[in-house]
Amino acid sequence: MKDCNNKIIMLMDMDAFFASCEQQEKPFLRGKPIAVGGKNVVAACSYEAKKYGVKSGMSTFEALKICPDLIVVPGDMEKYASTSREIMRMLPDYTPEIEIFSIDEAFLDITGTIKFWNNDPVFLAEHLRRRIRKRFGITASIGISYNKLIAKLAASMAKPDGVKYIEKKDTHEILENLPVDELSGIGRKLKIKLNELGIATCGELGKFPVKILKRLFGQYGMILHYMAIGEDRGEVKELTPKNRSIGHSRTIPGGIRDYNIARIYLLRLCEMVGRRVRKAGFVGRTVTLTIRYDDFFTFSKQKSLYDYIDVGEDIYKEALYLFNRIETGKSIRLVGISLSGLVKASRQITIGENTDNIRFLHALDSVNNRYGEDTIKRASFSLIDVPVKSISNFEKHLDLKL
Ligand SMILES: [Mg+2]
Repeated sequence: MKDCNNKIIMLMDMDAFFASCEQQEKPFLRGKPIAVGGKNVVAACSYEAKKYGVKSGMSTFEALKICPDLIVVPGDMEKYASTSREIMRMLPDYTPEIEIFSIDEAFLDITGTIKFWNNDPVFLAEHLRRRIRKRFGITASIGISYNKLIAKLAASMAKPDGVKYIEKKDTHEILENLPVDELSGIGRKLKIKLNELGIATCGELGKFPVKILKRLFGQYGMILHYMAIGEDRGEVKELTPKNRSIGHSRTIPGGIRDYNIARIYLLRLCEMVGRRVRKAGFVGRTVTLTIRYDDFFTFSKQKSLYDYIDVGEDIYKEALYLFNRIETGKSIRLVGISLSGLVKASRQITIGENTDNIRFLHALDSVNNRYGEDTIKRASFSLIDVPVKSISNFEKHLDLKL
């Protein structure tokens, strides 16, 4: 296994990205509490609004109650995506090893290039931040450390508009008394669950018997253990087809017991994955289903095919095969689907293949690519909620093309 814990990793994370884009474009919004979102849900908000306690995911109604001066601006994903692309295009000036993690976050492995920057990661980080500020008038925060996990933690400490470098030798001390939910990947509910076990800090989690964690949380138990001691198994994934996977996951608010509804979520995720795979010009042959139950027990199941696929329905067929073999009756909190083993597509229509279907898919793709997810969708999707709130969940695995 590659050593993922002796590197110099940076996480660049734009500050209140959607709100900052709006404030940059419309100067009268600057310095004011604003929320970006739809009619019902706050998708993102400015730091001025955060001071009042406004958070993304909150209902607009609730947000206006705690912050009556809040200005609600409709979101414009196309605009944010194009600004994001321009920012991401600056990154190869610093290293070729880049993982675009979401629309406003990217990991950079600068281990190999830091020698060109006085061996000073902070110097490099400030250079990038200055460029972004100058060009777009918005700020980014940057966390630096020896792996992705701690770089992410450093970035959250650097916010807003700052740089934080956590060196390996200081990690133990920082983690010892750090509340578990400060680590990315541990949310409010899991925190409560860990608290029930008498675990409040990363220090305590790190010392907790791994055996019990594994019994309680499945494969996630081992990950939790490593996280608590500051070890990360993930490397910065370059956008090469070989190690590339395209996936989406969805947290279902309140969990779900009706597996037929869960199957609709699954179909929807598969179609989103298929569309992105096609858009990126790939086909893949390994389907991975990830399930997290309400008690945070998490596991993945995988199926590799003989044929390469790129159509949502085909992905769904395999996903369903895997899904139908999981334990029934437990409330599901998260479903995830990814397609890996990707290779560049050279779609040769074989004789007898239904070309109408392919033409139909292309037409569907072009409408949805242009006008947004769900412009044309299956009728069954109206059975599940598709709020603006889901942006953050769906964007999680988004890797924009450079
Ligand atoms: Mg951000």
